[in-house]
Amino acid sequence: MTPPGDAGPRARGSRATRSPVPPRVAAPSALVRRLEEICGNENVFWRPEDLLVWEYDAGFDRRPPAAVVLPGTAEEVADVVRAARAAGAAIVPRGAGTGLSGGTIACADAIVVSTARLRRIVSIDALARIAVVEPGVPNLAVSLAARGHGLFFAPDPASQRISTIGGNVATNAGGPHALRYGSMTNHVLGVELVLPTGESARFGGEVADLPGYDCVPFIVGSEGTLGIITKVWLRLLPLPEDVRTFVAIFADIDSGARAASAIIASGVVPAAMEMLDRVTIGALNAAFEVHLPEDAGSLLLVEVEGLREETEDWAHTIERVLRKNGAASVRSAETVSERELLWKARKLGYAALARIRPNNYLHDAV
Ligand SMILES: Cc1cc2nc3c(=O)[nH]c(=O)nc-3n(C[C@H](O)[C@H](O)[C@H](O)COP(=O)(O)OP(=O)(O)OC[C@H]3O[C@@H](n4cnc5c(N)ncnc54)[C@H](O)[C@@H]3O)c2cc1C
Repeated sequence: MTPPGDAGPRARGSRATRSPVPPRVAAPSALVRRLEEICGNENVFWRPEDLLVWEYDAGFDRRPPAAVVLPGTAEEVADVVRAARAAGAAIVPRGAGTGLSGGTIACADAIVVSTARLRRIVSIDALARIAVVEPGVPNLAVSLAARGHGLFFAPDPASQRISTIGGNVATNAGGPHALRYGSMTNHVLGVELVLPTGESARFGGEVADLPGYDCVPFIVGSEGTLGIITKVWLRLLPLPEDVRTFVAIFADIDSGARAASAIIASGVVPAAMEMLDRVTIGALNAAFEVHLPEDAGSLLLVEVEGLREETEDWAHTIERVLRKNGAASVRSAETVSERELLWKARKLGYAALARIRPNNYLHDAV
């Protein structure tokens, strides 16, 4: 069984080292029985065959947890934490399992606490521009829900279709548009979490500048080590009036990189600017119907957004700088669907490369 909304069996059939499957357990432990009392039998997994799909994420490490529990409310999360604490068992929170650094892998016979059932968008306050969501809500679902109010949620990790807000908070995720908008830490206003004692605590929220220490930036990026996030207050932004997306094709990586630097030097701050090399372009064309120019040495995607007067001005500058720096062709996306296809291609880059080499190691260089 694939966990709901999970990253899927990336490492299946790969060369990743499998940890030995623990001996068959005939009966549930006392802790498992207590977890079943709290969350219901159908929301607790403990048989070795049921644990197989929970023993890895999108990284390399593998280890079966002692059990997996899917609480349906914040109160159940607190009860689960108290039960595990009383039994002396470690706990590991898990969102969609798209993490690349093994953060969800159970060590020391830990219990995995999945947020797969905590998927409610609690509220969207269009006036205050705040969304309150449970941790298992996929990132993209927030922007889709906010769109009707003329708003969007800025952090856009490439995994945004499945990675969860809880996982995004815990990893301080960011995507291509971090260039203009920053990462999660710039967009999380408040967090409710269950502490290792089983107490529930809230930091921040809809009111800005509360008295006392601001613990929210400390929690964002803490990789589940401080507690299990059960609710998040997110800052929403107004949808820009105008968006322009350019695709420039270069003979090689160097000229594409020089053009990217020249755009920044020109004073224009794009909302996003990303380069794909020849290998990635080939991998994308082979895996998905994205129709990128196969003969390009590199491809630069540049997006600006804002008021129409601004974007028009920036568009002229960008086109001039790209051509001056050796772009063989510069094209702008004519329609929203063309723009979305270009970003979809960029965001599928990792998946396309992983199709060629399932065991790869990703570096983010800044
Ligand atoms: C194809 C692909 C593309 C990616 N692109 C990007 C990208 O552009 N930018 C980027 O930043 N990352 C990217 N990632 C990495 C990954 O998607 C992010 O780290 C994402 O934020 C993880 O979310 P998740 O729900 O999958 O969390 P998981 O992988 O399930 O967990 C990640 C960490 O968060 C903790 N955690 C999860 N939920 C909670 C909770 N409720 N409370 C406390 N701790 C919790 C876990 O314990 C773990 O330490 C990508 C991964 C893949 C596979």
